[in-house]
Amino acid sequence: MTHSIAPGFSLHGVGVSSGIAIGHAHLVSHALLEVVHYQLPAHLIEDEIKRFEAAVAHVRNDLEQVSSNLRKTAPAELNAFIGTHLMMLADKTLSEVPKEIIQNERCNAEWAIKLQMDDIVEQFEHIEDPYLRERKQDVVQVVERVIKALLGHQNQLSVEQQNNALSQERKLILVAHDISPADAIQFKQHQFAAFITDIGGATSHTAILARSLNIPSIVALQRARDLINDGELIIVDGDAGVVVVNPSKEVLAEYRLRQDQWELEQQKLQRIKSTRAVTIDGAKIALFANIEVPEDVDAVRDSGAAGIGLYRTEFLFMNRHPMPDEEEQFLAYRAVAQAMKGAPVVIRTLDLGADKQTGVETIVNAANPALGLRAIRLCLSEPQMFHTQLRAILRASHYGQVKILIPMLCTLAELRQTKLLLERAKQSLRAENTPFDEAIAIGGMIEIPAAAINAEAFASELDFLSVGTNDLIQYTLAIDRTDDTVAHLYNPLHPAVLKLIEISIKAGVKYDKPVSVCGEMAGDAKYTKLLLGLGLRQFSMHPSHVLGVKQQILHSQISALKVQVRKILNLTDIEKIELATRKFNQMH
Ligand code: PEP
Ligand code: MG
Repeated sequence: MTHSIAPGFSLHGVGVSSGIAIGHAHLVSHALLEVVHYQLPAHLIEDEIKRFEAAVAHVRNDLEQVSSNLRKTAPAELNAFIGTHLMMLADKTLSEVPKEIIQNERCNAEWAIKLQMDDIVEQFEHIEDPYLRERKQDVVQVVERVIKALLGHQNQLSVEQQNNALSQERKLILVAHDISPADAIQFKQHQFAAFITDIGGATSHTAILARSLNIPSIVALQRARDLINDGELIIVDGDAGVVVVNPSKEVLAEYRLRQDQWELEQQKLQRIKSTRAVTIDGAKIALFANIEVPEDVDAVRDSGAAGIGLYRTEFLFMNRHPMPDEEEQFLAYRAVAQAMKGAPVVIRTLDLGADKQTGVETIVNAANPALGLRAIRLCLSEPQMFHTQLRAILRASHYGQVKILIPMLCTLAELRQTKLLLERAKQSLRAENTPFDEAIAIGGMIEIPAAAINAEAFASELDFLSVGTNDLIQYTLAIDRTDDTVAHLYNPLHPAVLKLIEISIKAGVKYDKPVSVCGEMAGDAKYTKLLLGLGLRQFSMHPSHVLGVKQQILHSQISALKVQVRKILNLTDIEKIELATRKFNQMH
Protein backbone atom coordinates (compact mmCIF):
# COMPACT_ATOMS: atom_id res chain seq x y z
CA MET A 1 0.00 0.00 0.00
CA THR A 2 1.42 3.39 -0.88
CA HIS A 3 1.02 6.73 0.81
CA SER A 4 2.36 10.08 -0.27
CA ILE A 5 4.78 11.60 2.17
CA ALA A 6 5.57 15.23 2.84
CA PRO A 7 9.16 16.33 2.07
CA GLY A 8 11.59 16.13 4.92
CA PHE A 9 9.72 13.42 6.74
CA SER A 10 12.07 11.49 9.01
CA LEU A 11 12.04 8.16 10.83
CA HIS A 12 14.11 7.17 13.85
CA GLY A 13 15.49 3.73 14.58
CA VAL A 14 18.63 2.03 15.87
CA GLY A 15 21.72 2.68 13.73
CA VAL A 16 23.68 -0.56 13.38
CA SER A 17 26.23 0.30 10.74
CA SER A 18 27.85 3.71 10.29
CA GLY A 19 27.96 6.05 7.35
CA ILE A 20 25.57 8.07 5.25
CA ALA A 21 23.83 6.77 2.14
CA ILE A 22 21.64 8.69 -0.26
CA GLY A 23 19.60 6.68 -2.72
CA HIS A 24 16.28 5.38 -3.93
CA ALA A 25 14.15 3.05 -1.86
CA HIS A 26 13.75 -0.50 -3.03
CA LEU A 27 10.89 -2.03 -1.06
CA VAL A 28 11.01 -5.69 -0.21
CA SER A 29 7.38 -6.54 0.00
CA HIS A 30 5.82 -8.38 2.87
CA ALA A 31 2.94 -9.21 0.59
CA LEU A 32 1.40 -12.01 2.60
CA LEU A 33 0.58 -9.58 5.37
CA GLU A 34 -1.26 -7.33 2.98
CA VAL A 35 -3.78 -9.80 1.64
CA VAL A 36 -7.35 -8.77 2.27
CA HIS A 37 -10.53 -10.71 1.61
CA TYR A 38 -13.41 -9.32 -0.41
CA GLN A 39 -16.41 -10.75 -2.22
CA LEU A 40 -17.02 -10.14 -5.91
CA PRO A 41 -20.30 -9.78 -7.77
CA ALA A 42 -20.91 -12.63 -10.25
CA HIS A 43 -20.22 -10.52 -13.34
CA LEU A 44 -16.67 -9.75 -12.20
CA ILE A 45 -15.60 -13.33 -11.53
CA GLU A 46 -14.34 -13.94 -15.02
CA ASP A 47 -12.18 -10.81 -14.93
CA GLU A 48 -10.80 -11.84 -11.58
CA ILE A 49 -9.76 -15.20 -13.01
CA LYS A 50 -8.06 -13.41 -15.89
CA ARG A 51 -6.30 -11.15 -13.42
CA PHE A 52 -5.05 -14.25 -11.62
CA GLU A 53 -3.87 -15.85 -14.87
CA ALA A 54 -2.04 -12.68 -15.82
CA ALA A 55 -0.27 -12.59 -12.46
CA VAL A 56 0.83 -16.23 -12.81
CA ALA A 57 2.08 -15.55 -16.33
CA HIS A 58 3.94 -12.47 -15.10
CA VAL A 59 5.69 -14.47 -12.37
CA ARG A 60 6.54 -17.27 -14.78
CA ASN A 61 8.03 -14.78 -17.17
CA ASP A 62 9.99 -13.16 -14.34
CA LEU A 63 11.42 -16.45 -13.11
CA GLU A 64 12.34 -17.58 -16.61
CA GLN A 65 14.11 -14.33 -17.22
CA VAL A 66 16.04 -14.55 -13.95
CA SER A 67 16.92 -18.15 -14.74
CA SER A 68 18.26 -17.40 -18.20
CA ASN A 69 20.25 -14.43 -16.93
CA LEU A 70 21.70 -16.52 -14.13
CA ARG A 71 22.75 -19.40 -16.30
CA LYS A 72 26.12 -17.95 -17.24
CA THR A 73 27.51 -17.13 -13.85
CA ALA A 74 25.44 -18.42 -10.96
CA PRO A 75 26.00 -21.63 -9.03
CA ALA A 76 23.94 -24.62 -10.15
CA GLU A 77 21.91 -24.74 -6.92
CA LEU A 78 20.50 -21.30 -7.59
CA ASN A 79 19.18 -22.38 -10.95
CA ALA A 80 17.78 -25.56 -9.48
CA PHE A 81 16.06 -23.43 -6.89
CA ILE A 82 14.41 -21.26 -9.55
CA GLY A 83 13.52 -24.42 -11.49
CA THR A 84 11.69 -25.72 -8.43
CA HIS A 85 9.73 -22.50 -8.19
CA LEU A 86 8.79 -22.70 -11.87
CA MET A 87 7.62 -26.27 -11.40
CA MET A 88 5.53 -25.35 -8.41
CA LEU A 89 3.98 -22.49 -10.32
CA ALA A 90 3.10 -24.81 -13.20
CA ASP A 91 1.48 -27.33 -10.87
CA LYS A 92 -2.30 -27.41 -10.98
CA THR A 93 -2.58 -26.94 -7.23
CA LEU A 94 -1.20 -23.42 -7.63
CA SER A 95 -2.19 -22.50 -11.17
CA GLU A 96 -5.69 -24.02 -11.44
CA VAL A 97 -7.21 -24.66 -8.01
CA PRO A 98 -7.19 -20.97 -7.00
CA LYS A 99 -9.32 -20.26 -10.07
CA GLU A 100 -11.89 -22.76 -8.81
CA ILE A 101 -11.79 -21.05 -5.42
CA ILE A 102 -12.41 -17.66 -7.03
CA GLN A 103 -15.34 -19.18 -8.87
CA ASN A 104 -16.84 -21.07 -5.96
CA GLU A 105 -16.19 -18.60 -3.17
CA ARG A 106 -16.63 -15.49 -5.31
CA CYS A 107 -13.55 -14.03 -3.67
CA ASN A 108 -10.59 -11.97 -4.84
CA ALA A 109 -7.60 -13.70 -6.42
CA GLU A 110 -5.12 -12.84 -3.63
CA TRP A 111 -7.41 -14.42 -1.08
CA ALA A 112 -7.96 -17.51 -3.23
CA ILE A 113 -4.27 -18.27 -3.68
CA LYS A 114 -3.59 -17.52 -0.01
CA LEU A 115 -6.32 -20.04 1.00
CA GLN A 116 -4.80 -22.60 -1.31
CA MET A 117 -1.31 -21.92 0.04
CA ASP A 118 -2.48 -22.45 3.63
CA ASP A 119 -3.96 -25.74 2.57
CA ILE A 120 -0.76 -26.92 0.85
CA VAL A 121 1.44 -25.78 3.74
CA GLU A 122 -0.79 -27.72 6.13
CA GLN A 123 -0.23 -30.86 4.03
CA PHE A 124 3.53 -30.27 4.02
CA GLU A 125 3.51 -30.12 7.83
CA HIS A 126 2.61 -33.82 7.89
CA ILE A 127 5.49 -34.92 5.70
CA GLU A 128 8.04 -36.87 7.72
CA ASP A 129 11.12 -36.13 5.66
CA PRO A 130 12.48 -32.86 7.10
CA TYR A 131 13.95 -31.77 3.79
CA LEU A 132 10.68 -32.17 1.93
CA ARG A 133 8.84 -30.58 4.84
CA GLU A 134 11.06 -27.54 4.48
CA ARG A 135 9.98 -27.16 0.85
CA LYS A 136 6.82 -25.52 2.13
CA GLN A 137 8.94 -22.40 2.26
CA ASP A 138 9.25 -22.60 -1.52
CA VAL A 139 5.48 -22.77 -1.87
CA VAL A 140 5.17 -19.70 0.34
CA GLN A 141 7.79 -17.86 -1.71
CA VAL A 142 6.08 -18.69 -5.02
CA VAL A 143 2.71 -17.61 -3.66
CA GLU A 144 4.24 -14.41 -2.34
CA ARG A 145 5.50 -13.64 -5.83
CA VAL A 146 2.05 -14.16 -7.32
CA ILE A 147 0.45 -12.00 -4.65
CA LYS A 148 3.01 -9.27 -5.26
CA ALA A 149 2.18 -9.39 -8.95
CA LEU A 150 -1.53 -9.15 -8.10
CA LEU A 151 -0.93 -6.21 -5.80
CA GLY A 152 1.23 -4.52 -8.40
CA HIS A 153 4.37 -4.64 -6.26
CA GLN A 154 7.76 -5.10 -7.74
CA ASN A 155 9.21 -8.47 -7.06
CA GLN A 156 12.59 -9.27 -5.62
CA LEU A 157 15.46 -7.67 -7.44
CA SER A 158 15.70 -8.93 -10.96
CA VAL A 159 19.15 -9.43 -12.39
CA GLU A 160 18.53 -6.36 -14.51
CA GLN A 161 17.82 -4.26 -11.42
CA GLN A 162 20.86 -5.63 -9.69
CA ASN A 163 22.97 -4.61 -12.65
CA ASN A 164 21.33 -1.20 -12.59
CA ALA A 165 22.16 -0.91 -8.92
CA LEU A 166 25.76 -1.61 -9.79
CA SER A 167 25.88 0.90 -12.61
CA GLN A 168 24.12 3.56 -10.58
CA GLU A 169 27.06 3.61 -8.20
CA ARG A 170 25.30 1.81 -5.38
CA LYS A 171 22.27 4.01 -5.25
CA LEU A 172 19.59 1.53 -4.15
CA ILE A 173 18.49 1.36 -0.54
CA LEU A 174 16.78 -1.80 0.60
CA VAL A 175 13.69 -1.23 2.74
CA ALA A 176 12.26 -4.33 4.43
CA HIS A 177 10.02 -5.27 7.30
CA ASP A 178 12.69 -7.67 8.48
CA ILE A 179 15.69 -9.41 6.99
CA SER A 180 16.80 -12.79 8.27
CA PRO A 181 20.54 -13.48 8.53
CA ALA A 182 19.96 -16.09 5.80
CA ASP A 183 18.65 -13.35 3.47
CA ALA A 184 21.26 -10.83 4.48
CA ILE A 185 24.15 -13.13 3.64
CA GLN A 186 22.84 -13.16 0.05
CA PHE A 187 23.05 -9.38 -0.09
CA LYS A 188 26.80 -9.78 -0.06
CA GLN A 189 26.48 -10.35 -3.79
CA HIS A 190 24.29 -7.29 -4.34
CA GLN A 191 25.42 -3.73 -4.18
CA PHE A 192 22.96 -1.86 -2.03
CA ALA A 193 23.89 1.55 -0.72
CA ALA A 194 22.20 0.85 2.63
CA PHE A 195 19.49 -1.22 4.21
CA ILE A 196 16.83 -0.41 6.73
CA THR A 197 14.25 -2.56 8.49
CA ASP A 198 11.19 -2.15 10.69
CA ILE A 199 12.30 -4.64 13.31
CA GLY A 200 15.56 -6.15 14.63
CA GLY A 201 18.11 -5.45 17.36
CA ALA A 202 21.52 -3.80 17.23
CA THR A 203 23.51 -6.97 17.78
CA SER A 204 21.24 -9.35 15.88
CA HIS A 205 23.13 -11.37 13.30
CA THR A 206 21.40 -9.40 10.58
CA ALA A 207 22.89 -6.22 12.02
CA ILE A 208 26.30 -7.87 12.23
CA LEU A 209 26.01 -8.77 8.56
CA ALA A 210 25.06 -5.19 7.73
CA ARG A 211 28.33 -4.09 9.27
CA SER A 212 30.16 -6.74 7.33
CA LEU A 213 28.63 -5.38 4.12
CA ASN A 214 30.14 -2.10 5.13
CA ILE A 215 27.05 -0.10 4.31
CA PRO A 216 25.01 2.18 6.55
CA SER A 217 22.08 0.44 8.10
CA ILE A 218 19.27 1.06 10.57
CA VAL A 219 16.91 -1.39 12.26
CA ALA A 220 13.84 -0.97 14.49
CA LEU A 221 12.31 1.80 12.36
CA GLN A 222 8.84 0.34 13.10
CA ARG A 223 6.98 1.50 9.99
CA ALA A 224 9.55 2.21 7.29
CA ARG A 225 8.07 -0.42 4.96
CA ASP A 226 4.65 1.22 5.27
CA LEU A 227 5.68 4.83 5.07
CA ILE A 228 8.30 4.78 2.33
CA ASN A 229 7.29 4.36 -1.29
CA ASP A 230 9.23 2.37 -3.84
CA GLY A 231 11.72 4.57 -5.68
CA GLU A 232 11.49 7.46 -3.23
CA LEU A 233 14.69 9.36 -2.50
CA ILE A 234 15.89 8.67 1.04
CA ILE A 235 18.86 9.49 3.22
CA VAL A 236 20.15 6.90 5.68
CA ASP A 237 22.27 8.24 8.53
CA GLY A 238 23.64 5.05 10.09
CA ASP A 239 25.32 6.86 13.00
CA ALA A 240 22.28 8.78 14.15
CA GLY A 241 19.80 6.03 13.25
CA VAL A 242 17.80 8.51 11.18
CA VAL A 243 16.14 8.08 7.78
CA VAL A 244 15.06 11.21 5.91
CA VAL A 245 12.39 10.54 3.30
CA ASN A 246 12.05 12.91 0.32
CA PRO A 247 14.57 15.42 1.67
CA SER A 248 14.36 19.07 0.73
CA LYS A 249 17.20 20.51 -1.39
CA GLU A 250 18.80 22.09 1.68
CA VAL A 251 18.71 18.90 3.74
CA LEU A 252 20.06 16.92 0.82
CA ALA A 253 22.93 19.36 0.37
CA GLU A 254 23.76 19.20 4.06
CA TYR A 255 23.86 15.40 4.04
CA ARG A 256 25.98 15.32 0.90
CA LEU A 257 28.45 17.50 2.75
CA ARG A 258 28.37 15.22 5.79
CA GLN A 259 28.80 12.23 3.52
CA ASP A 260 31.93 13.82 2.03
CA GLN A 261 33.25 14.60 5.50
CA TRP A 262 32.63 11.04 6.66
CA GLU A 263 34.48 9.69 3.65
CA LEU A 264 37.33 12.10 4.30
CA GLU A 265 37.61 10.87 7.88
CA GLN A 266 37.68 7.28 6.67
CA GLN A 267 40.48 8.19 4.27
CA LYS A 268 42.42 9.91 7.05
CA LEU A 269 42.19 6.76 9.14
CA GLN A 270 43.99 4.93 6.32
CA ARG A 271 47.14 6.75 7.39
CA ILE A 272 47.41 4.61 10.52
CA LYS A 273 46.81 1.34 8.66
CA SER A 274 50.36 0.10 9.07
CA THR A 275 50.99 1.84 12.42
CA ARG A 276 51.30 -0.69 15.22
CA ALA A 277 48.53 -0.61 17.84
CA VAL A 278 50.56 0.55 20.85
CA THR A 279 49.35 2.80 23.67
CA ILE A 280 51.20 5.96 24.74
CA ASP A 281 52.76 4.01 27.60
CA GLY A 282 53.92 1.20 25.33
CA ALA A 283 51.31 -1.56 25.78
CA LYS A 284 51.01 -3.62 22.60
CA ILE A 285 47.42 -4.35 21.67
CA ALA A 286 46.40 -7.09 19.22
CA LEU A 287 43.63 -6.13 16.82
CA PHE A 288 41.93 -8.99 15.02
CA ALA A 289 39.02 -9.17 12.60
CA ASN A 290 35.74 -11.09 12.55
CA ILE A 291 34.62 -12.79 9.33
CA GLU A 292 31.54 -14.67 8.17
CA VAL A 293 32.65 -16.09 4.80
CA PRO A 294 36.08 -16.71 3.23
CA GLU A 295 35.62 -13.77 0.82
CA ASP A 296 35.76 -11.43 3.84
CA VAL A 297 39.50 -12.07 4.02
CA ASP A 298 40.20 -9.28 1.52
CA ALA A 299 38.59 -6.76 3.87
CA VAL A 300 40.66 -8.17 6.73
CA ARG A 301 43.87 -7.62 4.82
CA ASP A 302 42.79 -4.09 3.87
CA SER A 303 42.06 -3.28 7.50
CA GLY A 304 45.59 -4.02 8.68
CA ALA A 305 44.25 -6.47 11.33
CA ALA A 306 46.81 -8.87 12.80
CA GLY A 307 44.71 -11.93 12.03
CA ILE A 308 41.22 -13.35 12.32
CA GLY A 309 39.87 -13.47 15.86
CA LEU A 310 36.49 -14.96 14.95
CA TYR A 311 35.45 -16.89 11.87
CA ARG A 312 31.70 -17.55 12.19
CA THR A 313 31.58 -20.83 10.27
CA GLU A 314 27.81 -21.28 10.56
CA PHE A 315 27.26 -18.98 7.59
CA LEU A 316 28.59 -21.74 5.34
CA PHE A 317 25.68 -23.86 6.52
CA MET A 318 22.86 -21.41 5.87
CA ASN A 319 20.49 -21.22 2.86
CA ARG A 320 21.20 -24.76 1.79
CA HIS A 321 20.57 -28.43 2.06
CA PRO A 322 22.37 -30.76 2.40
CA MET A 323 25.00 -29.36 4.71
CA PRO A 324 28.53 -28.81 3.39
CA ASP A 325 30.55 -32.01 3.58
CA GLU A 326 34.04 -32.29 5.07
CA GLU A 327 35.78 -31.49 1.80
CA GLU A 328 33.78 -28.32 1.17
CA GLN A 329 34.35 -27.15 4.72
CA PHE A 330 38.04 -27.99 4.52
CA LEU A 331 38.44 -25.99 1.31
CA ALA A 332 36.74 -22.96 2.87
CA TYR A 333 38.81 -23.09 6.07
CA ARG A 334 42.03 -23.76 4.20
CA ALA A 335 41.37 -20.83 1.86
CA VAL A 336 41.16 -18.54 4.89
CA ALA A 337 44.22 -20.07 6.61
CA GLN A 338 46.31 -19.75 3.46
CA ALA A 339 45.14 -16.24 2.65
CA MET A 340 46.18 -15.09 6.12
CA LYS A 341 49.72 -16.37 5.48
CA GLY A 342 50.59 -17.65 8.94
CA ALA A 343 48.71 -14.96 10.88
CA PRO A 344 46.31 -16.39 13.51
CA VAL A 345 42.93 -17.62 12.27
CA VAL A 346 40.45 -18.46 15.02
CA ILE A 347 37.81 -20.77 13.55
CA ARG A 348 34.72 -20.99 15.68
CA THR A 349 32.84 -24.28 15.56
CA LEU A 350 29.22 -24.16 14.47
CA ASP A 351 27.09 -21.65 16.33
CA LEU A 352 23.77 -22.53 14.71
CA GLY A 353 20.46 -22.07 16.45
CA ALA A 354 18.65 -19.02 17.88
CA ASP A 355 18.48 -16.44 15.06
CA LYS A 356 20.88 -18.42 12.83
CA GLN A 357 18.67 -21.17 11.50
CA THR A 358 19.20 -23.63 8.72
CA GLY A 359 17.15 -26.52 7.41
CA VAL A 360 18.81 -29.02 9.76
CA GLU A 361 16.43 -31.53 11.20
CA THR A 362 17.63 -31.08 14.76
CA ILE A 363 16.75 -27.41 14.92
CA VAL A 364 13.25 -27.34 16.24
CA ASN A 365 10.92 -24.47 16.85
CA ALA A 366 11.71 -23.99 20.52
CA ALA A 367 9.83 -21.38 22.51
CA ASN A 368 13.11 -19.72 23.57
CA PRO A 369 15.63 -20.67 20.88
CA ALA A 370 18.38 -18.48 22.37
CA LEU A 371 18.16 -20.63 25.49
CA GLY A 372 17.77 -23.83 23.53
CA LEU A 373 19.75 -26.27 21.47
CA ARG A 374 22.28 -23.95 19.88
CA ALA A 375 26.05 -23.72 19.36
CA ILE A 376 28.10 -26.31 21.27
CA ARG A 377 24.95 -27.87 22.69
CA LEU A 378 23.71 -28.61 19.19
CA CYS A 379 27.14 -29.91 18.10
CA LEU A 380 27.41 -32.26 21.06
CA SER A 381 23.97 -33.61 20.28
CA GLU A 382 25.01 -34.20 16.65
CA PRO A 383 28.43 -35.86 17.09
CA GLN A 384 28.74 -36.92 13.44
CA MET A 385 28.15 -33.38 12.18
CA PHE A 386 30.63 -32.08 14.76
CA HIS A 387 33.20 -34.74 13.89
CA THR A 388 33.02 -33.70 10.23
CA GLN A 389 33.64 -30.08 11.11
CA LEU A 390 36.45 -30.83 13.55
CA ARG A 391 38.22 -32.95 10.92
CA ALA A 392 37.84 -30.16 8.36
CA ILE A 393 39.28 -27.57 10.77
CA LEU A 394 42.14 -29.85 11.79
CA ARG A 395 43.03 -30.54 8.18
CA ALA A 396 43.05 -26.80 7.46
CA SER A 397 45.38 -26.27 10.46
CA HIS A 398 48.21 -27.72 8.36
CA TYR A 399 48.04 -24.67 6.10
CA GLY A 400 48.31 -21.79 8.54
CA GLN A 401 48.04 -20.79 12.19
CA VAL A 402 44.57 -22.14 12.92
CA LYS A 403 42.97 -22.14 16.38
CA ILE A 404 39.64 -23.65 17.41
CA LEU A 405 37.05 -21.66 19.33
CA ILE A 406 34.06 -23.26 21.08
CA PRO A 407 30.90 -21.12 21.32
CA MET A 408 28.44 -20.91 24.23
CA LEU A 409 30.32 -22.99 26.77
CA CYS A 410 28.42 -23.30 30.01
CA THR A 411 29.86 -26.25 31.88
CA LEU A 412 33.25 -27.90 32.15
CA ALA A 413 31.57 -31.16 31.16
CA GLU A 414 30.77 -29.67 27.76
CA LEU A 415 34.37 -28.58 27.37
CA ARG A 416 35.73 -31.99 28.32
CA GLN A 417 33.35 -33.77 25.99
CA THR A 418 34.41 -31.40 23.20
CA LYS A 419 38.05 -32.17 23.87
CA LEU A 420 37.32 -35.90 23.68
CA LEU A 421 35.62 -35.45 20.32
CA LEU A 422 38.53 -33.32 19.13
CA GLU A 423 40.92 -36.07 20.17
CA ARG A 424 38.80 -38.60 18.29
CA ALA A 425 38.92 -36.44 15.16
CA LYS A 426 42.71 -36.16 15.54
CA GLN A 427 42.99 -39.94 15.91
CA SER A 428 41.05 -40.50 12.72
CA LEU A 429 43.39 -38.18 10.83
CA ARG A 430 46.49 -39.77 12.32
CA ALA A 431 45.21 -43.17 11.22
CA GLU A 432 45.06 -41.87 7.63
CA ASN A 433 48.37 -40.02 7.87
CA THR A 434 46.57 -36.78 7.09
CA PRO A 435 48.67 -33.87 8.35
CA PHE A 436 47.32 -31.37 10.89
CA ASP A 437 48.67 -29.18 13.68
CA GLU A 438 49.03 -31.52 16.67
CA ALA A 439 49.40 -28.55 19.01
CA ILE A 440 46.33 -26.69 17.70
CA ALA A 441 45.14 -24.20 20.33
CA ILE A 442 41.62 -24.54 21.66
CA GLY A 443 39.75 -21.61 23.13
CA GLY A 444 36.30 -21.07 24.58
CA MET A 445 33.78 -18.30 24.27
CA ILE A 446 32.55 -16.63 27.41
CA GLU A 447 29.00 -15.71 26.47
CA ILE A 448 26.93 -17.10 29.31
CA PRO A 449 27.09 -15.35 32.70
CA ALA A 450 27.69 -18.72 34.37
CA ALA A 451 30.80 -19.19 32.24
CA ALA A 452 32.04 -15.69 33.06
CA ILE A 453 31.60 -16.19 36.80
CA ASN A 454 33.37 -19.51 36.42
CA ALA A 455 35.97 -18.16 33.96
CA GLU A 456 38.97 -19.31 36.02
CA ALA A 457 37.98 -22.94 35.58
CA PHE A 458 37.70 -22.44 31.82
CA ALA A 459 40.97 -20.47 31.68
CA SER A 460 42.79 -23.30 33.43
CA GLU A 461 41.60 -25.91 30.91
CA LEU A 462 41.76 -23.87 27.69
CA ASP A 463 44.49 -22.12 25.67
CA PHE A 464 42.59 -18.83 25.35
CA LEU A 465 39.25 -17.17 26.09
CA SER A 466 37.12 -14.96 23.88
CA VAL A 467 34.35 -12.91 25.44
CA GLY A 468 31.25 -12.77 23.23
CA THR A 469 29.65 -9.63 24.57
CA ASN A 470 26.68 -9.84 22.19
CA ASP A 471 25.36 -12.92 23.90
CA LEU A 472 26.86 -12.12 27.29
CA ILE A 473 24.81 -8.91 27.41
CA GLN A 474 21.71 -10.69 26.11
CA TYR A 475 21.89 -13.37 28.79
CA THR A 476 23.00 -11.13 31.64
CA LEU A 477 20.33 -8.50 31.11
CA ALA A 478 17.66 -10.94 29.86
CA ILE A 479 17.27 -8.91 26.67
CA ASP A 480 16.69 -10.65 23.35
CA ARG A 481 19.38 -9.19 21.09
CA THR A 482 17.04 -9.42 18.09
CA ASP A 483 14.03 -7.75 19.68
CA ASP A 484 13.61 -4.08 18.78
CA THR A 485 11.08 -3.48 21.54
CA VAL A 486 13.80 -3.92 24.18
CA ALA A 487 16.73 -2.66 22.08
CA HIS A 488 16.92 0.52 24.18
CA LEU A 489 17.63 -1.58 27.28
CA TYR A 490 20.55 -3.43 25.67
CA ASN A 491 23.53 -1.70 27.22
CA PRO A 492 27.16 -2.87 27.42
CA LEU A 493 27.69 -0.37 30.24
CA HIS A 494 25.43 -2.12 32.71
CA PRO A 495 27.62 -2.57 35.81
CA ALA A 496 26.91 -6.32 35.88
CA VAL A 497 28.19 -6.69 32.31
CA LEU A 498 31.38 -4.77 33.12
CA LYS A 499 31.98 -6.92 36.16
CA LEU A 500 31.59 -10.13 34.15
CA ILE A 501 34.04 -8.87 31.53
CA GLU A 502 36.49 -7.95 34.27
CA ILE A 503 36.21 -11.40 35.88
CA SER A 504 36.90 -13.03 32.52
CA ILE A 505 39.95 -10.87 31.81
CA LYS A 506 41.35 -11.47 35.29
CA ALA A 507 40.88 -15.23 34.91
CA GLY A 508 43.04 -15.09 31.78
CA VAL A 509 45.71 -13.06 33.57
CA LYS A 510 45.78 -15.50 36.49
CA TYR A 511 46.34 -18.51 34.21
CA ASP A 512 48.44 -16.61 31.71
CA LYS A 513 45.98 -17.25 28.89
CA PRO A 514 45.13 -14.59 26.31
CA VAL A 515 41.64 -13.11 26.52
CA SER A 516 39.95 -11.24 23.72
CA VAL A 517 36.57 -9.61 23.27
CA CYS A 518 34.97 -10.50 19.92
CA GLY A 519 31.43 -9.15 20.38
CA GLU A 520 30.32 -5.89 18.78
CA MET A 521 31.49 -3.99 21.87
CA ALA A 522 35.11 -4.60 20.81
CA GLY A 523 34.57 -2.71 17.55
CA ASP A 524 32.86 0.31 19.06
CA ALA A 525 35.48 3.00 19.61
CA LYS A 526 33.36 4.42 22.47
CA TYR A 527 34.33 1.43 24.58
CA THR A 528 37.98 0.99 23.57
CA LYS A 529 39.46 2.92 26.50
CA LEU A 530 37.11 1.28 28.97
CA LEU A 531 38.15 -2.18 27.77
CA LEU A 532 41.83 -1.22 27.86
CA GLY A 533 41.37 0.00 31.44
CA LEU A 534 39.70 -3.30 32.31
CA GLY A 535 42.91 -5.02 31.20
CA LEU A 536 41.92 -6.16 27.70
CA ARG A 537 44.84 -6.55 25.27
CA GLN A 538 43.13 -8.35 22.37
CA PHE A 539 40.16 -7.10 20.40
CA SER A 540 38.38 -8.77 17.50
CA MET A 541 35.88 -6.85 15.40
CA HIS A 542 34.49 -6.24 11.98
CA PRO A 543 37.37 -5.20 9.66
CA SER A 544 35.85 -1.76 9.03
CA HIS A 545 36.21 -0.89 12.72
CA VAL A 546 39.86 -1.79 13.14
CA LEU A 547 41.28 1.62 12.28
CA GLY A 548 38.81 3.57 14.42
CA VAL A 549 39.65 1.41 17.43
CA LYS A 550 43.37 1.66 16.68
CA GLN A 551 43.15 5.43 16.70
CA GLN A 552 41.69 5.31 20.21
CA ILE A 553 44.48 2.98 21.33
CA LEU A 554 47.18 5.30 19.99
CA HIS A 555 45.73 8.04 22.23
CA SER A 556 45.42 5.92 25.35
CA GLN A 557 47.57 5.74 28.43
CA ILE A 558 46.81 2.55 30.28
CA SER A 559 48.12 3.64 33.68
CA ALA A 560 45.67 6.56 33.74
CA LEU A 561 42.80 4.51 32.32
CA LYS A 562 43.19 1.86 35.01
CA VAL A 563 42.59 4.40 37.74
CA GLN A 564 39.48 5.74 36.04
CA VAL A 565 38.09 2.28 35.33
CA ARG A 566 38.53 1.31 39.01
CA LYS A 567 36.22 4.21 39.83
CA ILE A 568 33.74 3.20 37.13
CA LEU A 569 33.58 -0.34 38.47
CA ASN A 570 32.42 1.07 41.79
CA LEU A 571 29.48 2.86 40.18
CA THR A 572 26.10 1.18 40.24
CA ASP A 573 24.13 3.54 38.01
CA ILE A 574 24.27 3.05 34.23
CA GLU A 575 23.80 6.80 33.64
CA LYS A 576 26.79 7.63 35.84
CA ILE A 577 28.88 4.99 34.11
CA GLU A 578 27.91 6.46 30.73
CA LEU A 579 28.89 9.94 31.85
CA ALA A 580 32.20 8.76 33.30
CA THR A 581 32.98 6.79 30.13
CA ARG A 582 32.24 9.80 27.94
CA LYS A 583 34.50 11.96 30.10
CA PHE A 584 37.42 9.64 30.08
CA ASN A 585 37.11 9.08 26.34
CA GLN A 586 38.27 12.68 26.07
CA MET A 587 41.41 12.07 28.15
CA HIS A 588 44.43 9.85 27.70
C1 PEP B 1 28.94 -12.78 20.69
O1 PEP B 1 27.96 -13.36 21.16
O2 PEP B 1 29.41 -11.73 21.16
C2 PEP B 1 29.63 -13.32 19.50
C3 PEP B 1 30.75 -12.81 19.05
O3 PEP B 1 29.02 -14.36 18.86
P1 PEP B 1 27.78 -14.16 17.86
O4 PEP B 1 27.57 -12.69 17.71
O5 PEP B 1 28.10 -14.84 16.59
O6 PEP B 1 26.68 -14.84 18.63
MG1 MG C 1 27.53 -15.37 20.46
